[in-house]
Amino acid sequence: MIRILSGASFKAAGGLLKDIQSRQLHGTYDIAVVGAGIVGLATARELILRHPSLTFVLLEKEKELSLHQSGHNSGVIHSGIYYTPGSLKARLCVRGATLAYEYCEKKGLPYKRCGKLIVAVEQEEIPRLKALYERGMKNNVRDLTIVDGKGIRDREPYCRGIMALDSPYTGIVDWRMVALSYGTDFKEAGGTVVTEYEVNDISMIKESPSGSTEGMKYPLAVRDNKGNELRCRYVLTCGGLYSDRLSQISGCSREPRIVPFRGDYLVLKPEKNYLVKGNIYPVPDPRFPFLGVHFTPRMDGSIWLGPNAVLAFKREGYKVYDFSAQDFADALLFRGLQKLIMRNITFGVGEMYRGLFIGAQVKNLQKYIPELSLSDVIRGPTGVRAQALDRDGNLVDDFVFDGGVGDVGSRVLHVRNAPSPAATSSLAIAEMIADEVENRFTL
Ligand SMILES: Cc1cc2nc3c(=O)[nH]c(=O)nc-3n(C[C@H](O)[C@H](O)[C@H](O)COP(=O)(O)OP(=O)(O)OC[C@H]3O[C@@H](n4cnc5c(N)ncnc54)[C@H](O)[C@@H]3O)c2cc1C
Repeated sequence: MIRILSGASFKAAGGLLKDIQSRQLHGTYDIAVVGAGIVGLATARELILRHPSLTFVLLEKEKELSLHQSGHNSGVIHSGIYYTPGSLKARLCVRGATLAYEYCEKKGLPYKRCGKLIVAVEQEEIPRLKALYERGMKNNVRDLTIVDGKGIRDREPYCRGIMALDSPYTGIVDWRMVALSYGTDFKEAGGTVVTEYEVNDISMIKESPSGSTEGMKYPLAVRDNKGNELRCRYVLTCGGLYSDRLSQISGCSREPRIVPFRGDYLVLKPEKNYLVKGNIYPVPDPRFPFLGVHFTPRMDGSIWLGPNAVLAFKREGYKVYDFSAQDFADALLFRGLQKLIMRNITFGVGEMYRGLFIGAQVKNLQKYIPELSLSDVIRGPTGVRAQALDRDGNLVDDFVFDGGVGDVGSRVLHVRNAPSPAATSSLAIAEMIADEVENRFTL
């Protein structure tokens, strides 16, 4: 059963409750957007605001919107420090953070600009910290400074370190709330949202005896796994953990592949919340794309510690024992992952160990807050990252947007890789994709 969320019910329920139900759908639309995570929602919103006379449908396989990465993340509004100058990540994060703050202000969505320290605890980390500062300056990150041990204690009285990067522009927000607000904007502008529609086929309609689609206004069929079909002119996919499979079903390249990495958080017991004021991050290890285990205050006042990064046995598997034979085989048979594992076996085993034995994770975190003890934390939520990987085992660092060739490929645009900080960057990504859609397609 698919669910079409109507404008009024969508708004009343924050995008989640009442709906019109239907067993079949044969609508026609100018553009279908697949995947209602924060990237799909932001982009659908941007497109409909720019082109109010066109018709748009947003297709989501779950009952609710933004349940996956966009609903399971650290909730940080990143300021753009880490990313290679000139990269999409650098540009879109810096612009995205500004747009995100403006959007939250305009919509009255709660956020806190609580700042962030990236803390060096060993002398050998100092050159990397200084290089990060240079990067941040090149990326035009606002208000970035370097502080010494006293500066660290002035900002975070329980944190110990020898030097830190101070980024007061970094903040926190509930990204799912933001994503749902984009969805409300989209609905209010006349867009249609259909949930429980798991797209498993995107192909050209061949109705005339000659098989020609010439002259057909809506030549693409987008079908789900229950035999429903709708038609459109163009498709944009924003499938997160399934972005490679969505690319494959439309005849585009399967690579880069997505490999799921589970990240488990610990949560501070409320009586220990005084230990942390803002975000406290380590100096990242340049060999890995993840930022390292960090202390992050949440909008509800709790403090999360994490996440680690371990290979997940299921693409949207949030529990340690969640397993999908297809996802598991898919990952392990991929040469790119085999190479990555061979190169990083020690790190991988360490991460698994710290995931299973939280004492080991706490020991790691005590480097930053020595007062923290094992009895101060409990196990918390989990997120699963969509990490794109090439066939040589290289982690794809930057955002990747890609189309294809041929009848279908030339009408489709895929968001192939949108890892962190894609939530922060979502409004800037949406602007860029909307430009790309306008360039590629005849709207
Ligand atoms: C643990 C963790 C911490 C993070 N922390 C931060 C942070 O602090 N700040 C930040 O900016 N970013 C952070 N990120 C990154 C950020 O959350 C993601 O980059 C962002 O949410 C990606 O959004 P998305 O829309 O691409 O993917 P998703 O949110 O995963 O959405 C994809 C959607 O597509 C749907 N879908 C998939 N296949 C189909 C199909 N066949 N048919 C229909 N629908 C389909 C899925 O159900 C899903 O709803 C974090 C990510 C993780 C995992």
